Amino acid sequence: MSFQWDKKDIPHKGWFLVNVIDIRENGESISETDYQKCMMCNNEKIRYVHIVEHPNYPETLNVGCICAEKMTNDYVNPKKQEKLLRNKAQRLNNWLKKNWKISAKGNIYLKFKDNFITIITDTNSKKYKCCVNNVWGNKLFNTIDEAKIAAFKGVEYFKENNR
Ligand SMILES: [Zn+2]
Repeated sequence: MSFQWDKKDIPHKGWFLVNVIDIRENGESISETDYQKCMMCNNEKIRYVHIVEHPNYPETLNVGCICAEKMTNDYVNPKKQEKLLRNKAQRLNNWLKKNWKISAKGNIYLKFKDNFITIITDTNSKKYKCCVNNVWGNKLFNTIDEAKIAAFKGVEYFKENNR
């Protein structure tokens, strides 16, 4: 049990938000998700983990949105970053449900806005490889969905970098 808000040796204010991560960013189902616990208030089942650091504290802490707001005294950015991740998770959800087609050669492909995604089966390993906008990834995936998720990340990367 660690209700850190009651402890004096952990600073309550003056924290900085380092990052917010979605622990289900790869489209994991609810049952296979290992939810985190807020290290500050012990609130369970945190999906969007806010990582905070403090100049006078040796470790970063993983906390929920509400604690992150209190600790950073910032009531805008923790929520805003969590919202961006929620939107991204929704986009991934939609992405997997898009109308993926199968070419004459048996490859899976999708044309989405300016992006063209192809997923092929690697002849040797029988695993899947994906290509986003003519860039082939090196990684091999066990399932088609894993390859689609990797392609989604590729497309998001192109978008973020305006390519
Ligand atoms: Zn908390």
